[in-house]
Amino acid sequence: MEEIVSLCRRRGFIFGSSEIYGGINGFWDYGPLGAELKRNLKSAWWEDMVLRELAGPDGTPVDIVGVDCTIIMNPKVWVASGHVGGFNDPMVDCRESKLRYRADHLMALGAVEPRARIQVFLENDADSLARAEKALLKYERRDSLDAVRHLVRPFTALSAEERAHAVGPDAKEPGTLTEPRQFNLMFETFVGAIRDEDSKAYLRPETAQGIFANFQNVLDSTRVRVPFGIAQIGKAFRNEVTPRNFTFRSREFEQAEIEFFIHPSSANEWYAFWRDQRYKWWQSIGLAGDNLTLREHGRDELAHYAKEGAGCCDVEYRFPFTAPGFGELEGVAHRSDYDLRQHAEHSGKRDKMKYFDQERSERYFPHVIEPSGGMDRGTLALLCEAYTPDATRPSGVFMKFHPRMAPVKAGIFPLVNKDGMPEMAEKLSRQLRTRWLVEFDPKQSIGKRYARMDEAGTPYCFTIDGESLKDQTVTVRHRDTQAQERIGVDRVEAWLAERLGA
Ligand code: ATP
Repeated sequence: MEEIVSLCRRRGFIFGSSEIYGGINGFWDYGPLGAELKRNLKSAWWEDMVLRELAGPDGTPVDIVGVDCTIIMNPKVWVASGHVGGFNDPMVDCRESKLRYRADHLMALGAVEPRARIQVFLENDADSLARAEKALLKYERRDSLDAVRHLVRPFTALSAEERAHAVGPDAKEPGTLTEPRQFNLMFETFVGAIRDEDSKAYLRPETAQGIFANFQNVLDSTRVRVPFGIAQIGKAFRNEVTPRNFTFRSREFEQAEIEFFIHPSSANEWYAFWRDQRYKWWQSIGLAGDNLTLREHGRDELAHYAKEGAGCCDVEYRFPFTAPGFGELEGVAHRSDYDLRQHAEHSGKRDKMKYFDQERSERYFPHVIEPSGGMDRGTLALLCEAYTPDATRPSGVFMKFHPRMAPVKAGIFPLVNKDGMPEMAEKLSRQLRTRWLVEFDPKQSIGKRYARMDEAGTPYCFTIDGESLKDQTVTVRHRDTQAQERIGVDRVEAWLAERLGA
């Protein structure tokens, strides 16, 4: 992971926010290559979900329209959605290290006997586990943990007595972790000149509620009828207790969400459709191997809005910092009619928010299937999946992005910067630039230019050499195989379009 983070910095994929002032924990900026990568991910989502035809479970096209709602909304929205009352995480402070942890992300390692030493570590964090094991071995004066009757348990399962003997993930002394306390994750702000309770507002912790609040507006202003979806991509903010793992858990991030409205009787069918559809979509943009998995939730994980027996699953990716485990990329949930009912009640527009189904001649609150994905976690998964060490190359590594996701689609090089080659290369570059981001690069040796493009994940490079001027052909170099072939310069645009799926 450290190598990936360092490549991201060096090549301008991701920087820490406001780094010149020492940064700010949980906030990240995208550099020139990263901004393109994330934009390609978001565009692909919008194209495939909203613009292009998508066949539903019975083959009929699925209707989805887009919205773009504000980040700050009337605070009553968050009372109705349950976020003001219940969007809490249990947090634990360490009196020694002054660090703060999510109680449900902490695990305890140690014997079950009373008063035995317990080492606390971060779940899904191999380094933290290794530190805990080392500390326990040292304390117990043993060579191997196999000999110790030890057990891994959630921190929240420890008794008060056991907690008194627990050493925090970054502490040396036992008993410095506090009792778990509830902490609301919403960022607060004030609207207008006066800062008081009445002017308090929140930065949205999810984009979904803007969609629910506009449900009736969309129905009234378009021709969509149940079943249909409303899609949105936008920023969301959560004051996470412990932002960590690079951009995986940030305090400002982007979500891509669809609220898909259906008749309650068809919930199972649509849930299965969206679960499979979304899993396939992540595969289609390059996360096709064993690192991607689909996990149905157990009963004890169901969210507050989910009904008993309702479907809920996560599309998960095996990040280097979660391996051998997985981390959530997207959740697909049957949210029942929870949100529409809540907004109907809290806004006092009870009947207006029900849907009248002409075909069934029935008035009801539609149920909702929600695929909710993270575009920053998605970008991070693309970066981790693409990272391919290769000792045979000068760069030592190349980024194997799916061509549709690659920030730069092609490199255009004159073999030497004279004899008419730069002119011909520039002409080709200008032609391609009308459709894609391509990079014209006349500097340094050809090997160094390929190496730069390998690190940027550029799938194809076109080189103009002495031959090109005579027979109007160019060399194409393929990133993944480093194989080269020659094609006519007049064919380059069509050749590229075919491979980029554009
Ligand atoms: P987690 O359990 O990891 O905190 P969650 O279940 O609370 O995530 P959701 O509320 O389902 O997440 O949000 C939908 C998506 O938004 C997630 O699948 C994830 O991709 C993204 N997301 C949520 N929280 C963050 C965050 N702090 N940083 C980056 N992305 C996030």
